Amino acid sequence: MNKVAFVTGSTRGIGKEIAITLAESGYDIAINYRYENENLKITKKEIEEKGVKCLTVQGDVSSFEDCEKCIKNIIDEYGKIDVLVNNAGITKDTLLMRMKKEDFEDVIDINLVGTFNVTKNVISHMIKSRSGRIINISSVVGISGNAGQTNYSASKAGIIGFTKSLAKEVASRGILVNAVAPGFIETDMTDILKDEIKDEITKNIPLKRVGTAKDVANVVKFLASEDSSYITGQVICVDGGLL
Ligand code: NDP
Repeated sequence: MNKVAFVTGSTRGIGKEIAITLAESGYDIAINYRYENENLKITKKEIEEKGVKCLTVQGDVSSFEDCEKCIKNIIDEYGKIDVLVNNAGITKDTLLMRMKKEDFEDVIDINLVGTFNVTKNVISHMIKSRSGRIINISSVVGISGNAGQTNYSASKAGIIGFTKSLAKEVASRGILVNAVAPGFIETDMTDILKDEIKDEITKNIPLKRVGTAKDVANVVKFLASEDSSYITGQVICVDGGLL
């Protein structure tokens, strides 16, 4: 029986690459989407081409009820979740002076509360099976801070605190909880930045290139695997040395 991995926000960007990379390693996959679209069908097809199963579960991670329904669907179909990757996330960047309360709340609700909502619904199943891996996608700005991202940095710093605390709570049950903190990764999220800003960021990266979704997915694959069985409560930066 294949192991089962659930990746949130997985129809594009880093989440999609994580889902495909885990599919290549032989996991049956559950992908999560908010709205039906072409990306969903393409991602499902690409995963199934790896010779594993792909279940699609609709839900907004900021809704506890949606997350409850998603996890129930996965358990009904596969009977278990071995690996959870909390990847779904958004930015709403602006200086605090100009930030609306909704911009702060939306980012916290999706990035941080979303991580709680999904994990809360998964954890009892992992505890029952006395094993599991939870990998939370944070960000280097959750460690360093970044002007224009008070909402986003707070959400990503929150994910780090959540990761470290949960790691201590569930270690005795055989569940490992870690975070990955990407630096600047080429996806739709960073595509909105002006070329001058991208060039400036690249200049400050010791490895002199921006990261790819695959760079992040490979570290998630390691944290999901037996090779990382003595690692928990950690934050692994995937940032070309930026931080
Ligand atoms: P993208 O914007 O390319 O993709 C984000 C994904 O999250 C999409 O699939 C999106 O779905 C999904 N999503 C957003 N909100 C929700 C929600 N409420 N419920 C369910 N799914 C949702 O971002 P990236 O791939 O770049 O980022 C992935 C993760 O990596 C995020 O957590 C991000 O913060 C983090 N990260 C990214 C970095 C980068 O440089 N790109 C750097 C550091 C961290 P939909 O298609 O419906 O919008």
